[in-house]
Parts: sequence; C-alpha cells; structure tokens
Amino acid sequence: MLLSGLKVWTSRSLWIHRLHEGINGGGKARYSSCSPKVCIVGGGPAGFYTAQHLIKARPDVTVDIYERLPVPFGLVRFGVAPDHPEVKNVINTFTQTARHERCSFYGNVNVGKDLSVTELQEAYHAVVLSYGAEGNRRMGVPGEDLSGVYSAKDFVGWYNGLPSCRELGPDLSCETAVILGQGNVALDVARVLLSPIDLLKKTDITQPALEVLEESRVRRVLIVGRRGPTQIAGTVKEVREMVNLPNTRPDMLASDFEGVKEALKDLPSPGNEHERLEKASRVWGLRFYRSPVEILADPERSSRTAGIRLAVNKLEGSGEGARAVLTGEMEDVSCGLIISSIGYKSLSIDPSVPFDSHRAIVPNNMGRIQEAPGLYCSGWLKTGPTGVIATTLNNSFDTARSVLEDMDSGTLNTSAAKPGSQSINALLEKRGVKPVTFSEWEKIDSEEVRRGAAIGKPREKLLTVEEMLQVAGK
Ligand code: FAD
Ligand code: NAP
Repeated sequence: MLLSGLKVWTSRSLWIHRLHEGINGGGKARYSSCSPKVCIVGGGPAGFYTAQHLIKARPDVTVDIYERLPVPFGLVRFGVAPDHPEVKNVINTFTQTARHERCSFYGNVNVGKDLSVTELQEAYHAVVLSYGAEGNRRMGVPGEDLSGVYSAKDFVGWYNGLPSCRELGPDLSCETAVILGQGNVALDVARVLLSPIDLLKKTDITQPALEVLEESRVRRVLIVGRRGPTQIAGTVKEVREMVNLPNTRPDMLASDFEGVKEALKDLPSPGNEHERLEKASRVWGLRFYRSPVEILADPERSSRTAGIRLAVNKLEGSGEGARAVLTGEMEDVSCGLIISSIGYKSLSIDPSVPFDSHRAIVPNNMGRIQEAPGLYCSGWLKTGPTGVIATTLNNSFDTARSVLEDMDSGTLNTSAAKPGSQSINALLEKRGVKPVTFSEWEKIDSEEVRRGAAIGKPREKLLTVEEMLQVAGK
C-alpha cells in the first residue's frame, strides 16, 4: 500500500523517492503534496549545518541560504585565528552542502535591510535565522571610547579581513597591552599580538594586518580575568599554545595561584626550558581577580588611553559558579592598548522577530522561535555567543530536527506551494541587490588563493565588498 503511493521524479540527477500521501507508523500524513521550501538567514556554520541536516533527512526539502556578505562561512573565515588552518577544514563540508542540488547560496543579501523576515516567510514554508552574534558586549566603564581601546570583535575582524573592520588601523606603538576577558578569543588575540612575524606570514592573515604587526612595539600582554585560575574560560589547548609560543615567556603572579595548585595540575607548564625562556623578548601573563573600572586617559593626549583602573575582586562560592565580588581595593596598570574580549552579542535585525534584549538571543524552544510559527533559529543566535564549531553543529542539527518534526506533525503547514527564491530574487532585482551565488563565490575563492600563492600564503583575502562583487562578475 505504501509502495502504491510512491512516486519517483527524475529531474536532472536530483531526484529521489518521495511519498505522495504516504502514511507513517503513527497514521499521520508524512510528507505533504508539495516540496517544502526552507530558507536560512546566515551562511556561517549554523546556517550550513542546519541546511546539511535538512537536506540529508528529507529528500524533498529544498534549502536556500541568504548571507549578508558576498562570501560564505561566517566566523570560520572572519573569526578563527589565521594560525589555526586545520579548524577551517569544515569549509569542505559546507562546500559539499552548498553544491548539493537542493541547496542554493545567495550572498550579498542583507536580511533586515534588503529583505524583511516577513517577505521571506511569505516565500518559504519555514525560515531559520542563523545570523550569529555580530555585536560585542561593552564593558560599560568610563573611557571605553578613548583611542587605543578596541573590541576583540573588531580587532579579530581586522586581522581576518572583515570588510567593516578594514579601516580599524590599531595603534601598536606601545609596549604593554591589556586584554580584558580570559576566553579563547582573548587567547587568540594575545597569540596574534605576540607571534613571531615569520609564523604569521605563512597564514591567511591579511597583508595590511601583517604589516602593522611587523612594526608592532607591543612586548608585554596581560590577559585579565575577573575571577580565578579555576574559572578561566579559555581551554587548555589554547593556554598551551601561549606557553609554547617562540620568543615569549609567561609572567604570572604566584599569589594568584595560592590554594588552587591541585586544581591546576592539568594546566601546561613551560617545563625545564630555562634557556629559551631567558632569551625571550616578549612576555605574556594571566592576571586574575580583576575587573575593569575605568579606562584612564593620557594626561598629555586626553583622547588616548594610557592605562586602566582595575577593581580587585575576591571569589564567593567555588567552581564554575563562583562569583567575583569587589574588595574595594583598586589597582592601576599603565598600557597604551586595551582590547576588550568579554564576549560577542546577537543583534535584532528585524522588528517583527521576537528578541530578548537582556539575554541578546531570540527566545526559542529547541530552535522554535516563541510565538512565531514557521520561524526557527540556530547557532549563536539561538544559544548566545558561546561554544565551538562542534557545539554549533549539534545545536543546528537540533533545530533542523524541530523543523522536520513540525513538518511531519503538520504543525508547519507545507500543503500550499510557495514560490521560494523565485519571488525573492524578483524582489532583490527590483531593489537593485545582486546576489552572489556559490559558483560566483568560488571565483572569489580562486582569486584569493591565486593572490596568496604569489606571496607564499594559503590565500590573500579580498578586503572590500566592492572588490568581491567585481571578482564575482557582478
Ligand atoms: P557566525 O559564524 O557568526 O555566522 C553568522 C553568519 O550570518 C555570518 O556569515 C554573517 O555574515 C551572517 N549574517 C549576519 N547578519 C546577517 C543578515 N542580516 N542577513 C544575512 N546574513 C547575516 N570555534 C572552533 O571550534 N574553533 C575555533 O578555533 C574557533 N575560533 C573562533 C574565533 C573567534 C574570534 C570567534 C568569535 C569564535 C570562534 N569559534 C571557534 C566559534 C565558532 O566560530 C562559532 O561556534 C560559530 O561560528 C557560530 O556559528 P554561527 O553560524 O552561529 O555564527
Ligand atoms: P567566553 O569564552 O565566554 O569568554 C568571555 C570572557 O569574558 C570570560 O573570561 C568572562 O569572564 C569575561 N567577561 C564576560 N563579561 C565580563 C565583564 N562584564 N567584565 C569582565 N569580564 C567579563 O567568550 P569568547 O572568548 O568571546 O569565546 C566565545 C566562544 O568561542 C567560546 O565558546 C570559545 O571557546 C569559542 N572560541 C573557540 C576558539 C578555539 O577553539 N580555539 C577560539 C575562539 C573562540 P567570566 O568567566 O567571569 O564570565
């Protein structure tokens, strides 16, 4: 009986078996009579993993990914440190997904500006928002906007070629830099600031960033956390990379480690390498139990920073949940560069989408956006800005499962045909927006690889949207 309802389509090589009005074990209509069209907003890991799971799980779903930039892969391209090329291998999986016949990529489409979420909902059965966390948490202390103070988000974007950070021009003419926050982003930034230039030259760091780093006079980097050594947010692997960084030596305060030596036995130590350490000309240190209170202005150039005032904390409670409590004591540290690395933050891109401004996420239940049927979310927008790519994979697969469950149960109505990209492309054309397809991105990719090869790098990224569009043939 099931087989009598089975239709086989063959359009190019794409098709598939599809149950027309098949009955599943629960007696419910399993697949509807028109093929479900899903659109995803954001072409980072969450977008690609959500698409991958949807396409794999159901042979009749088509997925369109809309990405703000002409280039895909989100933080894999613009966040992951240039000296971690192995992390970027996930791009191969994303590329396979993008090349799948039931997946299309449309770069250079800024949802919330070029298109509204409502327009996408009219064109698709389901819309999954996966646009990440593009804002940054502010410290909320006086002097935060002085020159010499940068967010890690912008600093990372600058050395990784994010077009909006191209003009950052960080001033690295001072000797001491303070990084606030002790997560993996802070450790990435510290490593990039202190790495020997010959190591960075072989990476895909942008050439302008390389030139600034080559002239850098920063010799000492302090990575400051508000809690203690057992609460450090960065992972052992990243701390070990700092310990092993050529031409650098750690400089810690013994008092910070009192009473926690046992808990720290797994942390890497530099071992018996006195000679290497003695010769090191650059220094890095973790500083604990300190919170930023004020960025201090240079008395001679009041628009610039010359230091930071830190409150000294003590811990209340223990373990991961321990809280930093002010002791009332203060400490000033002289420095000419301050990088705030206290976390990213999602932003609202469309007033029609519920948004929890306090937690800076879209309120959701297993990826189903609350009080918004047909709207889903995945990735950092769903969870907040924590977790590695593997975490993002899991939460994106969960969201895809929610979409599929809703299709199967009929909660998501897929019975009426939807126009999908056809109507959206017509809207974009009317608005003068030129989407970049995945094969057009591949032209940009080839050009970047070609430019990189000429100077011994894996790629030299194009730094402006205009140049990307030109190379894509737009
Ligand atoms: P994103 O990667 O930010 O992707 C979101 C995408 O949405 C972007 O492409 C963006 O351009 C697009 N977008 C934004 N707004 C719109 C809009 N209005 N319309 C259309 N598209 C839009 N994890 C690891 O496992 N290893 C690492 O080494 C590592 N390094 C990291 C380094 C840094 C600096 C950071 C910040 C994170 C790092 N991570 C790393 C974590 C990893 O990058 C995240 O887990 C992952 O990128 C989150 O994926 P996402 O798709 O939710 O967000
Ligand atoms: P994170 O891991 O959440 O670290 C944020 C840091 O900022 C913590 O030390 C936190 O301290 C501190 N902080 C937060 N608010 C603060 C405040 N108001 N004042 C002072 N300090 C404050 O975030 P992240 O470093 O941005 O990284 C984001 C995610 O990407 C993480 O999951 C990370 O692992 C991942 N990532 C991975 C890699 C990698 O695998 N190599 C590289 C980069 C990023 P508390 O702990 O006290 O809150």
